[in-house]
Amino acid sequence: MTEGNFVDYVKIHASSGKGGKGSTHLHREKYIAKGGPDGGDGGRGGHVIFKGDKNLWTLLDFKFTRHFKAEHGGDGSKNRSTGVDGKDCVISVPLGTVIVDNDSGEKLTEIVDEKEVVVIKGGKGGRGNWHFKSPTNQTPRYAQPGLPGKDRNFTLELKVLADVGLVGFPNAGKSTLLAALTAAKPKIADYEFTTLKPNLGIVRQRDYSSFVMADIPGIIEGASEGKGLGHYFLRHIERNSVILYIIPADADDPFEQFSILQGELKTYNPELLDKNYVIAISKCDLLDDELQKDLEVLTKTTFPEEDVLFISSVAQKGLTSLKDSLWDALNS
Ligand code: GDP
Ligand code: MG
Repeated sequence: MTEGNFVDYVKIHASSGKGGKGSTHLHREKYIAKGGPDGGDGGRGGHVIFKGDKNLWTLLDFKFTRHFKAEHGGDGSKNRSTGVDGKDCVISVPLGTVIVDNDSGEKLTEIVDEKEVVVIKGGKGGRGNWHFKSPTNQTPRYAQPGLPGKDRNFTLELKVLADVGLVGFPNAGKSTLLAALTAAKPKIADYEFTTLKPNLGIVRQRDYSSFVMADIPGIIEGASEGKGLGHYFLRHIERNSVILYIIPADADDPFEQFSILQGELKTYNPELLDKNYVIAISKCDLLDDELQKDLEVLTKTTFPEEDVLFISSVAQKGLTSLKDSLWDALNS
């Protein structure tokens, strides 16, 4: 892992299977003077495929296994029988893995869900001799060889830690928001403690971009004094690029909550306050229109400079604007 830019990083090599040979078989049968060509086609070589697996959370396995090989296609045979396709090589990676062609440096894809992405096609199988029968050649002894497989080197990069860290009191609606925004909520088996786990997910943003969001529980319970696991989670936040403060609409004093949260971060590390942040007033479905208007006006005067969003995870309101704001904050 590279410190600083939060990227887990491995290089691997993979090759697709070669296509099977077409067959040059000539059919022979008793009492039939001349059998015709009946050699079948070769099977396709196996593809190399990447597939997201939401239960994976590191690239650690690739430190031990770096070479991947799909199987070759089977050769064609008599009776126009086609060879079997080579078995694909499916490489499972955690969601959020960016796949780069190591030789050209080109970013090929980012795995954000469990769909399969073919990155190296298997070689085509050769055509059997019966395709080449013609008026001038009734018994072709020619069949195509299968096409070779291809080799490619890849760099896999995983953003291990979150881009956006959720900060809020317990019950502010952090977990619910994470569930509403992210396609996957991978379990993080690598953390050795069982009580509190940061929950992470990939938030899909427009045009196939994505960012990682972490729900960081227990932040406020004396976290800055190192009570419980708070300290550990604060370290997480230290690495997040953007902080998303979640303040419930039904809080007694939303503005006081915000300053307590900021105070807690500041006590731990004043630099945390220099990070870009976004404020979300959650559970807005609990407000009627008039109350929300009042709160919006009040917010504008209290936070004239800040990006404050009014959202409801339950009613799915304001979530697209929130994602856009977070994206802007991440990229500014
Ligand atoms: P966390 O402790 O910050 O992770 O908060 P949770 O996501 O666990 O939510 C705490 C409570 O608030 C749960 O009972 C949720 O159902 C509720 N809640 C969360 N989001 C919303 C929302 O958008 N609207 C409403 N009405 N309730 C919500
Ligand atoms: Mg929670």
